[in-house]
Order: sequence, then C-alpha cells, then structure tokens
Amino acid sequence: MKKRIVLYKALSHDLLARLQAAAEVTTVDLARPDGMARLRDALPGAHGLLGASLRLDASLLDLAPELEVISSVSVGVDNYDITDLDRRGIVLTNTPDVLTETTADTGFALILATARRVVELANWVRDGHWQSSLGPAQFGSDVHGKTLGIVGMGRIGEALARRAAAGFGMQVIYHSQRPKPDVEARYGARRVALDALLAQADFVCLTVPLSAATEGLIGRKELALMKPAAILINISRGRVVDEQALIDALETRRIRGAGLDVFVQEPLAVDSPLLRLANVVATPHIGSATEDTRQAMARCAVDNMLAALAGRRPANAVNG
Ligand code: NAP
Repeated sequence: MKKRIVLYKALSHDLLARLQAAAEVTTVDLARPDGMARLRDALPGAHGLLGASLRLDASLLDLAPELEVISSVSVGVDNYDITDLDRRGIVLTNTPDVLTETTADTGFALILATARRVVELANWVRDGHWQSSLGPAQFGSDVHGKTLGIVGMGRIGEALARRAAAGFGMQVIYHSQRPKPDVEARYGARRVALDALLAQADFVCLTVPLSAATEGLIGRKELALMKPAAILINISRGRVVDEQALIDALETRRIRGAGLDVFVQEPLAVDSPLLRLANVVATPHIGSATEDTRQAMARCAVDNMLAALAGRRPANAVNG
C-alpha cells in the first residue's frame, strides 16, 4: 500500500508527479481560510509532511501518529522541536546548500541598499525631490574597503565572506562557535569575540540559526557596542534580535541603519515602527526567494521525502 504524504506547499508539476508516483498525496493550501482545518483533517494517517513556514507543534503532531518524516523546504529548523521529534521517532529533513548563494546575495543586497540608501533615494526621486545636484544630506557610506562582521560563520556566512573579500575588498571578522580555518585562509577572515565584532564592524550581518542560544543575541547592550556609523543586517531569523531595542537604536540614530529580511512577527505589520524609519530597508523574507533556488529547494525536499519513505536515510536528515 502506498504511503500518504500531506503537502502544505505548492510544488511544480514534475515534482508533484514524482511524489504521486511513490505515494498518495493530499495537498493543503494554508493561505485559504480553511487551510489549517484541512491540514488537521489530513494529519491522521499521514506518513510524510512536506512544506515550510509552519510551526509544527505537539498539538498538530499528536494528530499524526503514523508520521515518519517531515521534509522542511527550508534550511532553518526553528519551527520544529527536535527533541520531541526524536521522542516520536520522526525524521526531520531540511534543504541546506542549494539556497546558500541566493541568501548571501540577499545579504549583500541589504548591505548595499542600506549603505547607499538605495530605497530611500529612489523614493525621493519618485516623489519629485530631485531638483538639483545632490548634497551631503543625500550621501551614503561606502561598502568597499570597510569591515564586515559576520555573526555565524556557516554556509551562508562563508558565502558572504567570499563576496566581501573578493568582490568588495572588505576586511572580514566573524563570530562563530568554532573556528573556521578554511575561511580564514581563503578570505583573510579573523575570528573575534562577539563584543569585539560589534565594536569593530561597519556592517554586522547575522547568519546564525535561531536557537535557545541565539534568541535575543543582539539586544540593547549589544547594539550599544556598535559604532554609530554601523549598519545591522539580519538575514537569519527575527527573534535573534530584540526588535524593540533595535527600533530604539534606529530612532535615536544610535546606529546608522538596518537591513532586515526577517522579523519577530511575519508578515511584518504595516504599522510597525520599523516601516516609519528612513534608515531601515525591510524586505519580506526574500532570502532564498528566486525561482531557481525555490525550485532547487523543493527538489531537495522531495528527494529527502522519497528517500525517507523508501526506508533510506535522507541526505539532509537533521535528526535520527
Ligand atoms: P549553518 O551552515 O548551520 O551556519 C550557521 C552558523 O552559525 C554555524 O557556523 C554555527 O557555528 C553558527 N552558530 C550557531 N549557533 C551559534 C551561536 N550560539 N553563536 C555563534 N555562532 C553560532 O547554516 P546556514 O545554512 O548558513 O543558515 C543559517 C541560518 O540562516 C538558517 O538557520 C536560517 O535561520 C537562516 N536563513 C535565512 C534565510 C532567509 O530567507 N532570510 C534563508 C536561508 C537561511 P559552528 O559552525 O561553529 O557551530
């Protein structure tokens, strides 16, 4: 008998066909008002779940006693309680590597957009303010030759370091749990304590996973250590930063600006104080959101799912 998969993310026809050849597939559209109710109805009897951006907590997992595998279409696994999954004997898989370069591009887009005030000044032109040549009030700050501080030197951190060192002639400093001798050799990166990184970097870029250890990693005290001309870039997860402390630091110009792809609450409320600040560039969690990369992530998630259901260990098993 075919195993049963619940899909809560749309897939391209070819990927859906691959899943359907191996399993009975129920598709649930969580954007619909009845999406969660339909998911709950589909969970009993499900052997596999494939999707993203949903907190799969105990109350949902309790409805799925047959569940063997969750294939997350993401590299971040902060939506899952891995200890609980271990206890239930459920394998969790993710999609690392295929999104690394695209997410690093997003990081650099935010670095450039904030430093050179791209969004603010593009709107300024649109609003008819470009009446004469620019003055210091419109000047930005350079990116090339500056110091990039990377918090979390993993796959995405390294891809940022490469862009910074090879493309922009930047000095790279980083804070990570373990030293990264390869990254140091390739890009001249230096490992420093978090406080030193915050004090020295012109751009602080967050690429740590969200965990108990990184939640609130950047709070009031840490923001106070940053240079007044420094810019914070967050492409990891919103809860790594104390958002109210960041709003205060930006409103008082304690730091120059922030480029933010992730927020404590997503979608970001349209009345968020962050959206009133000219020194903030806010993007809607676009880290990996290109057609090619999202397709590669979906393919990876399908491969992981099919391997697990066939009794093989998936290439990207996070636990088990
Ligand atoms: P990764 O290769 O696992 O890198 C994460 C790095 O963070 C590791 O090098 C790890 O250090 C370091 N780290 C973990 N906990 C730390 C701590 N407490 N203090 C300092 N460093 C710590 O992961 P990745 O593929 O680069 O992805 C990183 C994160 O980016 C994901 O978990 C996800 O949340 C986020 N992300 C966001 C988007 C987006 O759309 N904005 C897209 C993709 C990913 P060690 O190696 O020393 O253990």
